[in-house]
Amino acid sequence: MEDDVNAKGQKKPEEFKRPAIKTFVLLLLLSCVVTIGISFLVWWVPYVGLANIQPNLPWILASVLACVVLYVIGGALTLLLTVITGKNFFFSKRMRGMVIKVLFPILVVLGRCIGIKKEDVWRSFIAVNNKLVRAEAKKVSPERLLVLLPHCLQNHNCKFRITGNIENCRKCGKCKIKDLLELSHRYGVPMAVATGGTLARKIVKETRPEVIIGVACERDLTSGIQDTYPIPAFGILNIRPFGPCYDTDVDVEMLEEAIRHFLKPETLTSDNASAHKQVV
Ligand code: SF4
Repeated sequence: MEDDVNAKGQKKPEEFKRPAIKTFVLLLLLSCVVTIGISFLVWWVPYVGLANIQPNLPWILASVLACVVLYVIGGALTLLLTVITGKNFFFSKRMRGMVIKVLFPILVVLGRCIGIKKEDVWRSFIAVNNKLVRAEAKKVSPERLLVLLPHCLQNHNCKFRITGNIENCRKCGKCKIKDLLELSHRYGVPMAVATGGTLARKIVKETRPEVIIGVACERDLTSGIQDTYPIPAFGILNIRPFGPCYDTDVDVEMLEEAIRHFLKPETLTSDNASAHKQVV
């Protein structure tokens, strides 16, 4: 697995650190153990009764349950391999759907049972989702990429209304919206500010992106990733120096790196490439 710093020795954001992935791996292994345990009980409890009806019935049931267990363990191993190697396995899109719709709710319950905080489970979900979205490696043109930002990034004293139209920002520099808007112009990528899930869903419906990069807290990113499925949504956690929902911040460099990752190489012109060099 990756270290907690990147190649330049810079610290990685929370969702890319080992503990986030480790939480997911731990819960995944636990879910395999629970599946094996439940399957054994389902086979063992009616064992005598089934044998009385038909001597072969316990073995037929055992074969069916073995298939279920092998399916779950095989899926878990493939998922782990994708997360660890970052390679695009041929059914990773389906796998992402399985993780989002089926596995994650189970892992939340399991995590609660063993006392893992829900924020940690959310963070691990975002980290694994990001790995899977990256593994799909979809490259799109700028207009098919959408960057969704939370309203709390805006300075609380700013009187300009940027929800609905981020271009209303006057680029005074009191918050990161200025830098983000410049990023949007440099790469030609649509960027929107949403006050909540309803507006975010409306923006996604109207712009119909092929890939979304979302910035938000753990809870909003998790629900956003689930809401926008099957559109691949890459999550970047915001930074909260003053607590939640108030003058929050974001790692612009990381956002730029994500934008560049999802854009088709031919859209990365010498203009935005040289600007990227200045940033990093
Ligand atoms: S950078 Fe834009 S959004 Fe931020 S305070 Fe200045 S005008 Fe308002």
